[in-house]
This record gives sequence, structure tokens and C-alpha cells, in this order.
Amino acid sequence: MCQNHSSSPDDTSHLPRRNFLKLVGAAAFGLSFADRALAAEPALPRPQNAITPDAALARLIKGNERYVAGVAKRQDFSTDRQAMTTAQNPFAGVLSCADSRVAPEYTFDAGRGDLFVCRVAGNFAEPSSIANFEYGLAVLGVPLILVLGHQNCGAVSSTISAVKEGTEFPGHIPTLIDAIRPAVETSMKESGDLLDNSIKNNVLRNVEALKTASPLLDKAVKAGTLRIVGGIYDLDTGEVKILS
Ligand SMILES: [Zn+2]
Repeated sequence: MCQNHSSSPDDTSHLPRRNFLKLVGAAAFGLSFADRALAAEPALPRPQNAITPDAALARLIKGNERYVAGVAKRQDFSTDRQAMTTAQNPFAGVLSCADSRVAPEYTFDAGRGDLFVCRVAGNFAEPSSIANFEYGLAVLGVPLILVLGHQNCGAVSSTISAVKEGTEFPGHIPTLIDAIRPAVETSMKESGDLLDNSIKNNVLRNVEALKTASPLLDKAVKAGTLRIVGGIYDLDTGEVKILS
């Protein structure tokens, strides 16, 4: 089972809570007492990842600024490969669209072991992604979750087509449409560009969905150990605008 962090070189105020969550998580995932004892004194493969929610968001923004400016860090995967064979401590969770043009590790100039990512076309929260982020919080101690929409999202555009023109899609694609449909219907009552508004409303709606659908996440948000925010990726510039 994955392990968590217990100390930070720059901010330790939040860590007792995170260790508590980790133990709760370990129990929830059926670990033995021996496993949990091991979890209480974890390996720390990336000490720089044990940071507060606000510091995690600032780090994402800084990484995106490097990506936009074309000065991304060189990633040396060999230096911490061994340290991460038995543990991980990502500093942010990302609920991203599956769109091949939106790659969270590139977007935030992040390394292996930094981001706990779920991707689905339309970046919406559903039971398995909610469970993933509960795991990210309770077991891995992730302090931040970002719901990341993007400019010209094909899933949202297809949903608009389905809602306005009755376009039908084959296979299981309608499950995507149904998940995004409420954001489109809300946006149809607003002025401005329907696609842009739908993308934005879909992100905001799923930020709230993560908070309200999971008592575990909601409790951590209210305790200040977790932030859930939304953002939009601009395909033209690579910039991510934080919405909330
Ligand atoms: Zn998309």
C-alpha cells in the first residue's frame, strides 16, 4: 500500500492531521496494524511534496508559468526512481479531461510522483474518480485537488450538440453527455459564448460535486487540510486560469 509523509522542510503545521487521515485511510483499506505502524513512520520519497493546500496551488501555478514560458525543468527520472518503488506522496490531485492536448504533468511542469491524476472526457466527477481522490487524500495525504477543464473541449461541444440539436452518439458515449448536460443547460440561460460558459460551468459544478458527494473530502476541506479548486487550460497559450 502506498505511503505518506510525516515531515516537511518548509511547513509542518498541517502534518499531524494528514498523518491521522493516513491512518484512517490505512484502516479503511484494510491494512494490518503492522502496516499501519509502518505507515506512521513513512518513507518520504519526495519531501518537497509535504506542503499546505495553498502552497500546493502556488506550486502548480509556478509550474504552469514555466511551461507557458518554455522554461520547464529538466526531469531526471533516475534520481528518485528507487525511493518511489514502495511509496508516493503527490502534492496535488488533478481531475483532467482525457483530451490528448491537455497533459497535466507537462502543464504544471511536474515530475513523476508529483500529481495524482484522474482523466475522463469532460473532466467530471463520478463514483470511481471520487473514490480515487478519497484515496489520494486519506492514504497519500494530497492537500489539493484541481478540476481542470480546457478551451475547445470536444466532450462539452458534443454535449451542446446533443442538447441543442438532438445529436445522437454511439456506444457508451451518451454517459459522458449525460454527465456534462447540466452544465450546458445552465449555460444556455446565460449570455456570452455557450461553449466557453459550458466549459467553465462544468468545472465549477464538478468542484462542488467533489465537495458535496464525499463527506471525507468535505470534512478535510472544512478542516483546512484540503482545497478543491477549478481551472481552465488555454490551448492557445498553455496558461491555466484558476477559477476558484
Ligand atoms: Zn475536453
